[in-house]
Amino acid sequence: MNREPITLGLKYFYCLTLTLSRSNCKELGVEPLVLRIWIFLFGLAVGSFLNVCIYRLPRSLSLIRPRSMCPDCQARIAFYDNVPVASYVWLRGRCRHCGTAISLRYPIIELVSGLFAVAVFARYGLSWQGLFLYALVAALLVITFIDIDHQIIPDVITFPGIGVGFLTSFVSGHVTYKESLFGIILGGGVLLLVALGYYLLTKREGMGGGDIKLLAMIGAFLGWKAVIFTIFVGSAVGTVVGVALALRKEEGRRLAIPFGPFLSLGALLYIFFGPQIIGWYVALLR
Ligand SMILES: [Zn+2]
Repeated sequence: MNREPITLGLKYFYCLTLTLSRSNCKELGVEPLVLRIWIFLFGLAVGSFLNVCIYRLPRSLSLIRPRSMCPDCQARIAFYDNVPVASYVWLRGRCRHCGTAISLRYPIIELVSGLFAVAVFARYGLSWQGLFLYALVAALLVITFIDIDHQIIPDVITFPGIGVGFLTSFVSGHVTYKESLFGIILGGGVLLLVALGYYLLTKREGMGGGDIKLLAMIGAFLGWKAVIFTIFVGSAVGTVVGVALALRKEEGRRLAIPFGPFLSLGALLYIFFGPQIIGWYVALLR
């Protein structure tokens, strides 16, 4: 396998986070690079937990017990075989006991989680704001992969997420509590109306209730502007991908494409570039 594009991509991603950084490392007296490595390792460990959530939440299994085991032979996975990314490499992607291939998705999700940790904390600093937004990113990652696998968005994530998002607006100040509250109402309400309208017109459920709660959660964390941005970006990208998939697969024209990943993508873009993109857009209209 040619790894060059991957290493190059990682390099660019790292440079991007450096550029976005508002160096609060100096104040802490920490070498910025060392700090970023620690944040990356923290993100890898979180990613390992996200993998557990993605596998167990939709199956209504406990997140804590039993300890990690091979989904194929049920053998316990020892702690030294459970190190994010590294274990996958030294086990060469196979279970130590039964030799079944381990999905490449596990280390990829761990890596993505680690890179997002570096990016979010570089952008927002080591602050409450950074921590809350990283929690939102983590929730969006879990929701994205569960929605792809099972076409559901678990209430176990979105309901508490709406509450937590609203509460964080009092602590971190990245949005006011009014913006957050209006975000919940707008996110929940708009999609509910669209879903109702679609149902009345076609007598079919077009959009799941999960999407509505997801958008309310995004509104709670990021405010009402983010809701509009997310609907806009999510539907645009979702339409393009949906059409591309429908063209490739001619039979089965009404294929179910989960909307959660596209809403998540919109929210992620908003976290990093939302205010700038809205600024450009407003400038264009003037
Ligand atoms: Zn096994």
